Amino acid sequence: MESAAEKAKILIVDDVAEKRLAVEVVLQNLGQEIVSVGSGAEALRRLLNEDFAVILLDVNMPELDGFETANLIRQRRQSEHTPIIFLTAFPDDTYAHRGYSLGAVDYILTPVVPEVLRTKVSVFVELYRMTQQVRRQADERIALAHEHAARVAAEQANRAKNEFLANVSHELRTPMNAIIGMTDLALREELLPLVREFLTTVRSSSQVLLELLNEILDLSKMEAGKFTLQNTPFGLRELVDDLARAYGFRATDKGLALGIKISEQVPDQLLGDPLRLRQILNNLLSNALKFTDRGRIGIEASLHYATEHEAHVYFAISDTGIGISAADQERIFTPFAQVDASSTRRHGGIGLGLAIASDLIRAMGGKLSVESKPGDGSRFCFTLLLRLAPKTEKVGAPKEAAESADAARAGLARNGAHSNGGPATKLHVLLAEDVRANQMLVQHAMRQRGHTIDVASDGREAVECATHATYDVILMDVQMPELDGFQATAAIRALPNGARVPIIALTAHAMPGDNERCLAAGMNGYMAKPLDVVQLVETVENCARQAAEGSCCADTM
Ligand code: ADP
Repeated sequence: MESAAEKAKILIVDDVAEKRLAVEVVLQNLGQEIVSVGSGAEALRRLLNEDFAVILLDVNMPELDGFETANLIRQRRQSEHTPIIFLTAFPDDTYAHRGYSLGAVDYILTPVVPEVLRTKVSVFVELYRMTQQVRRQADERIALAHEHAARVAAEQANRAKNEFLANVSHELRTPMNAIIGMTDLALREELLPLVREFLTTVRSSSQVLLELLNEILDLSKMEAGKFTLQNTPFGLRELVDDLARAYGFRATDKGLALGIKISEQVPDQLLGDPLRLRQILNNLLSNALKFTDRGRIGIEASLHYATEHEAHVYFAISDTGIGISAADQERIFTPFAQVDASSTRRHGGIGLGLAIASDLIRAMGGKLSVESKPGDGSRFCFTLLLRLAPKTEKVGAPKEAAESADAARAGLARNGAHSNGGPATKLHVLLAEDVRANQMLVQHAMRQRGHTIDVASDGREAVECATHATYDVILMDVQMPELDGFQATAAIRALPNGARVPIIALTAHAMPGDNERCLAAGMNGYMAKPLDVVQLVETVENCARQAAEGSCCADTM
């Protein structure tokens, strides 16, 4: 049985009710909807809003006859192609010709032969159905094509947005490098207390700005699918201890306790991306600290299960802070979402930390979730499946490309390399770098330590310098005009005195794989920009010392 919606409509137009009825009776068992009207005018009215499969039109009618009605039917766009079958009692050829010239498709003599009428009408009904079907399919295809075009346009716009964000934040990081570096240098001079205070504020504000830029860069890289996870061995306890040290001071400053609980069952030597794991925990811990005024914050790691090769580790960062309502818990993981815009002014942040953390955790195969109650505090948790590091691999603390200045300073304080006195050996350093601000930064950093430094503004100049002088260390920017850092390194390595000089790449991208590319090009390692001057000096001096002792300097800085 066909539903009413699927039935085709047949229009019968005849001024004589009995004749209409006779036709209706014949067509009834076609199972379609029959509309019967008594005049041409009424037929035209119905045709305004309804779609018919076929029209059976009496020729002889008062007022508008069949021919005039057909003429008007054809003039309307909606019915210009609806098949018309004339019904007439006169078997006259001139009638037939006039009808065809007005657009009739057929002619039936009355009284009708039921079988003939039914067969002809059912052919038109079938034709109508097929046309409708083709039209529907065409509509669907057009809709799909529109949808596809809209999706492609949206993807293109999104890609353009991400590229724009990545480029802008990358470009902004270069001057930030100079601002932070120069401020660091200035802070190591003797200063009036007030000037020191101003510069300290400049230093901490620029650090915040740099962190924001890094977050934007990270998010755009992730959205553009341009980031890859490392798979290196690391010690989980050492990583957490590092974080605890950094956050311990800040928590104490706020009068908060910091609790660390790593269950004994959690294996220590794991394989994964320690930098990204640290970034995730950093984001969650800095939020916990920001949004908690009394009580405690906690780091927790426990084992869900372990096999011979892998461990399912559960992480949780908890606090006793302001908490988050159920409604807000739904939206805080989307970029730029913040519960309370005024908190941005108080605490800083632009609502990207959780979006980045949850994207990173997802990329590592986990899911970030939150349990929280306003007023009581929050607990952010996730589980990661991490492979166990093979016993033979050396496991150490993750070396962060852009390790924080505090940590670097702590390291220097430990080995005393940066005491006020200069280093034991004066070095001759070559810097190949095209950005003026970076040149100044490195020059000052080296001269402060009593080293001498030559500066080349592009790769070709660097090769020339290395041809005529001998250096203890070469610092090589990767992106430069004329010859880039890789080409310049290859040329220097081919020089008689260039085979053994330590060359350290300075790269602004800090992308996974950079280290391998630098090593493959003949460099000894790389440092990610923005440069931390303290770390830079330490690296240069270590490298020179190791080269003098005959061992190569470390490959990742
Ligand atoms: P940001 O902290 O930079 O604003 P996040 O994406 O890290 O961005 O966090 C988004 C929002 O989620 C924060 O602005 C804050 O409103 C809420 N939030 C995150 N962590 C906590 C927490 N531990 N306690 C209370 N609110 C939080």
